[in-house]
Amino acid sequence: RSHDKNPPNLVFTEALIGNEWCPASSGKKFAVTDPASGKVLAEVADCGPQEAERAIDSAASALPEWKLQTARERANLLQNWYKLIVEHKEALAQLMTAEQGKPLAESRSEVDYGASFVRWFAEEANRTDGDIIPATNKEQRIIVIREPIGVVAAITPWNFPIAMITRKVAPALAAGCTVVVKPSEDTPLCALALGALAIEAGFPEGVLNILPSNQAKEVGEILTTHKTVKKLSFTGSTAVGKLLMKQCAGTVKKMSLELGGNAPFIVFGDADVEGAVAGAMISKFRNAGQTCICANRIYVHTNVYDEFLAKLIVRVIALITGPGAGEGVTIGPLINASAVAKVKRLVDQAIGKGAVLTYQAELTHSTDRYYPPTILTEVDESMDIAQEEIFGPVATIFKFTSEEEVIQRANDTAAGLAAYFYAKDAAQIWRVAEALEYGMVGINTGAISTPVAPFGGIKESGFGREGGKYGIDEYLTTKYLNWQI
Ligand code: ADP
Repeated sequence: RSHDKNPPNLVFTEALIGNEWCPASSGKKFAVTDPASGKVLAEVADCGPQEAERAIDSAASALPEWKLQTARERANLLQNWYKLIVEHKEALAQLMTAEQGKPLAESRSEVDYGASFVRWFAEEANRTDGDIIPATNKEQRIIVIREPIGVVAAITPWNFPIAMITRKVAPALAAGCTVVVKPSEDTPLCALALGALAIEAGFPEGVLNILPSNQAKEVGEILTTHKTVKKLSFTGSTAVGKLLMKQCAGTVKKMSLELGGNAPFIVFGDADVEGAVAGAMISKFRNAGQTCICANRIYVHTNVYDEFLAKLIVRVIALITGPGAGEGVTIGPLINASAVAKVKRLVDQAIGKGAVLTYQAELTHSTDRYYPPTILTEVDESMDIAQEEIFGPVATIFKFTSEEEVIQRANDTAAGLAAYFYAKDAAQIWRVAEALEYGMVGINTGAISTPVAPFGGIKESGFGREGGKYGIDEYLTTKYLNWQI
């Protein structure tokens, strides 16, 4: 029963409002399924506008006391939460693989990665320093203080069911804000498990509220238009981000938007090809290609093209597709059938326009749930696959000859989240790093995510930064005091 304090599998199925587990007032529930099998894992409360209002009220009542706690007190609670997440790593990882599909090894790393934001922002809670500014006359003192923005709403996606929540919630709580989270309808179980551990960690009631819901539009409308909510942090698709931005305009909410990417991955002529292939494997195939920073367009210089492709094929052949909990599996199912259909559409259209199917694994599993690891060559920018986020295990290879040309092609997209390149020449590295119009650039690496650095994009990939010393700024306002003494 979901009222158990901490069942061994950490499965909770009701909304968390004011530290109470609550059913939806409509009595409605929705099914959470295992993407590997379609099996129903749990029936979860389907929160609607009423629960959204209640959760916002609960966060609002908790705010006055929470923001007056010392930073150290908030940090201590975040540390407790961090320890509990790490302690329950295995149960959380199993839950994640069950509802999201990623290989168990990746789920375990995500639990660590997700927990690391809680630890990081526990530390940052103590560093929201202000300033004293030299005044313009003798009788004046000018002081700058940083205050929590207030009640925060967070809407999160399914591809990282834990980390996308902790990197919003931890800095918000550290700053002294209270939070309402609406996790993805595909992965509410990880969110609720985090909530259960937060209660156990000792957070006061109403500080963290979690609304599982299959009514994203209706709940989203409340979260984006309610006067009490002062900030919305969203990670998800660009289309939904744009809609939420419009909805937030009515009450001028502060926002952080982490939207879609279209990452170029450039291998220059003098690059360490072995390293570039390893980086491409991580960047492209992690989470079966379902990350917003996945290499979406792999540009390879003609000098190293044959070597790169030959080595990449060997590595892609070695991928093992299957249920995330399966022994040795490296590529799990995609999140649902429409995700598979989308990847198929992009690949078919590219082939129709002249791309070459250089390698495609044979599937031994359901073709509705899985997409086979694939390499497409002779890809160009006229194809949809170069313009849209693939979100599947398909490496698309483009050829180039000059730096100027590849920079122009790499930047020719509305997205500006992550980019990667492999090169050796120091002057070129500096030049290219500056020329790429992206919020994050991996140089001779395919792995850029870390809690100590600012994650986020430019252009239509959004704004705001998560992680690093910058991450907490998103939840603080700057107040200036002009004091005549
Ligand atoms: P993805 O392609 O990653 O599923 P979405 O943008 O559809 O991206 O989903 C990200 C989050 O946004 C999820 O929690 C989803 O429920 C939520 N969402 C989707 N549509 C809306 C909407 N109209 N209003 C508010 N939230 C939404």
